[in-house]
Amino acid sequence: MGVPGTSHSCGDGALPPTNLAYFDDMRKLHSNAIVAGVITEGERLAVVLDQTILHPQGGGQPFDTGSIEAVDGTIKFCVTDVRTKSGVVYHYGNYHENRVMEATGFEPGHEVKISVDGARRTLNSRLHSAGHLLDACMSNIGLGSLEPGKGYHFPDGPFVEYKGTIPSSDLENKRDALESEANHLIALGGQVRATVASYSEAAALCGGRLPDYIAKESCPRIICLGENLGCPCGGTHVLAISEIGEIKVSQIRVRKGVTKVYYNLPKSEA
Ligand SMILES: [Zn+2]
Repeated sequence: MGVPGTSHSCGDGALPPTNLAYFDDMRKLHSNAIVAGVITEGERLAVVLDQTILHPQGGGQPFDTGSIEAVDGTIKFCVTDVRTKSGVVYHYGNYHENRVMEATGFEPGHEVKISVDGARRTLNSRLHSAGHLLDACMSNIGLGSLEPGKGYHFPDGPFVEYKGTIPSSDLENKRDALESEANHLIALGGQVRATVASYSEAAALCGGRLPDYIAKESCPRIICLGENLGCPCGGTHVLAISEIGEIKVSQIRVRKGVTKVYYNLPKSEA
């Protein structure tokens, strides 16, 4: 456990936004960074860096786990939770008990090596990418009028949500069609691309319009799976559609004007 009070602390206002290096390279599991600050929040410790490849929880995707280690190997911090607030990424965790000098921790300016837990990242990226693929499949099976809402891409019961309904008599047919189309697209394959573009270019990649929550003056990051329409997203994804493996659509539920498509990746449960 980290000991509050033994580390340098500074207020959120003093910390610059963290550069999200996973935006450009979603596959990178090792990288260097500079410590911007170490925060104590009650019993919790958080390391803030100038840049990170660890994905914070958000956008329906769970946080990454991993480690932050001094380049000289004297200090190791195990990252057990990653969150973002006002553009600053907080890597929560504890110093490894084998650090050389028990009383010292990271200081601003320290150069560190970041490592991401690859197995957890891979599963999260596959689950997240599967959610995007289902969006494309909804259009392909004639349900394009349902507006994509939030997604939950956690291993414990992932789903994608749409505003709009499907008649109950049609649910089983649509479940079959959706699963069949998803696995058809996986068999076809294709690349997954992340592009940071101007608002107008981003809108074009997404079929002509962007959701209202995207600011007009922003440069959104757009994810495109193969030739399918893109969508704005800040998460990590597979680089090839085939890496998703296989999708099982377990259930479609309609309630209060919202359709929820539950899915899982059978190969990830082996
Ligand atoms: Zn995404």
